Amino acid sequence: MAQTFEEYVQNYRKNNRAFFERPWEKHIDPFRIYGNLYYVGDRAVCGHLIDTGDGLVMIDAGFTVTVPMLVDSVYRLGFDPKEIRTIIMTHGHYDHMGAAEYFRRLYGCKLGISRTDAEMIRTRKDFELAELSWEATPLFHAPETFDYLFEDGEVYRQGNTEITLIETPGHTPGVMTFFFDVEEDGVKKRAGLLGGVGLSATRDYFLAHFDLPGDTPERMIRKAEELKKEHVDIHLGNHPADNDIIEKRERQLKEGGNPFVDETEWERFLSNLQEKVKASMKLDGRSF
Ligand SMILES: [Zn+2]
Repeated sequence: MAQTFEEYVQNYRKNNRAFFERPWEKHIDPFRIYGNLYYVGDRAVCGHLIDTGDGLVMIDAGFTVTVPMLVDSVYRLGFDPKEIRTIIMTHGHYDHMGAAEYFRRLYGCKLGISRTDAEMIRTRKDFELAELSWEATPLFHAPETFDYLFEDGEVYRQGNTEITLIETPGHTPGVMTFFFDVEEDGVKKRAGLLGGVGLSATRDYFLAHFDLPGDTPERMIRKAEELKKEHVDIHLGNHPADNDIIEKRERQLKEGGNPFVDETEWERFLSNLQEKVKASMKLDGRSF
């Protein structure tokens, strides 16, 4: 476990070197989660596509090294990347923005992120953490501008879809949580996605490196408590381990049914997250 920012960077590069050399090993076939909601991510990072009836919304744009896989996934689902009207980034780290500028330049989509994280990116270039991406770093082009800067609580509307965006400071100051309805055979379900949970970013050495508030872990725990009040039928992840989406998909291929719909998971996920934040605070000699 890293105790300094430099150790964190070195550990990350070492642990993920194989991924940057052979990203295709993280490939999985895209699939429908429920109705008009699809998975276009891989085994390393999530990507979601919503068919709004008036173009697509994509949530997150993966790593630079996985852009070809993302493009392929969109086509394989029967869509054209030109149908993507907007990509909304969960937060301002490089592993969720890899294809953003590619897609804007090639397919003309708009890009959105929280105003808070856009400001972090503008004022602190290293905030994107592109240095973690090992030798792939020079290939990463973060968006220099965004077409939408979302405020806490704002609703993004497109076609039949309304996405409520809640700022959930913790993993970054402007991480957003997404709530929206999806529909299958006339039955609506509520999807919820907390846009960043990695806890290295709440450690003291990390917060100090980026001049971020020292009470970030406490705020994350309190915000998670608030988020529990929302009813969520389909818990989506930022990285696949957040909601075990790969295991669920493998189970679905074997057994059928829809393992992605589980209204008990959201509360369990948030309680688990709160415990993990408390455990990581202990590493810095703090308690909640
Ligand atoms: Zn992140």
